[in-house]
Amino acid sequence: MKKLLVLSLFLLFYFFASAQSDSIQIKGAQLIITPIQHGSLVLEYNGKTIYVDPYGGGESYGSINDPDLILITDIHGDHLHKETLQSLNLEGADFIAPAAVKEQLGEMNLPVPEVKVLANGAQTTWEGINIEAMPMYNLPETADSRHPKGRGNGYILNFDGTRLYISGDTEDIPEMRNLKNIDVAFVSMNLPYTMDIHQAAAGVLAFKPAIIYPYHYRGSDVEAFKKNVESQNSNIEVRLRKWY
Ligand code: ZN
Repeated sequence: MKKLLVLSLFLLFYFFASAQSDSIQIKGAQLIITPIQHGSLVLEYNGKTIYVDPYGGGESYGSINDPDLILITDIHGDHLHKETLQSLNLEGADFIAPAAVKEQLGEMNLPVPEVKVLANGAQTTWEGINIEAMPMYNLPETADSRHPKGRGNGYILNFDGTRLYISGDTEDIPEMRNLKNIDVAFVSMNLPYTMDIHQAAAGVLAFKPAIIYPYHYRGSDVEAFKKNVESQNSNIEVRLRKWY
């Protein structure tokens, strides 16, 4: 009986531990995707660990390895979160961010060695992974919008030919709609900060990623989003994961 209890506890633990991450086979390697909270996720590939917009406190990262790279999209507190950064081991972490984020990071007095700035459209290669900064902004474009064009970055990461897109806080801008050959996409959808599920669906149906994860979606009906997208294009797989 005791053995059975131990076994079921182990299985329960295994289920919860493994249910948190997805893995995608890329040639000889696995890309591990772990949702954290809101707009943050962790990507692990070839022994490297990438944190995107760390948020939710250091405890949200549990047993995940310390970051080798931190990608930040924008200056808002749900993307550039001082307390979470303070609670992480940043020793040995590289940073890639837009200029506005670098400026604010500088004022936070964190042990950040160097921040590589990427402007919209610029790209760099980090540990063999090509990283391109994409625009992210609200429509219509106004200087006083929550996300004016040019300040924040979405990102495209190329893992040995597999292209992963992280939208950041954006609406269905032409730069997103015109994307080609995206294998995995993370697209935000929440009002009034980004867009509603119908707008997000129209954007996703335009660029046709193979797999799309709604993220940064608090308060949105992601089940309806999934139904809408998959009924109009059965080649797109919408994956719903727990981001909160
Ligand atoms: Zn946000």
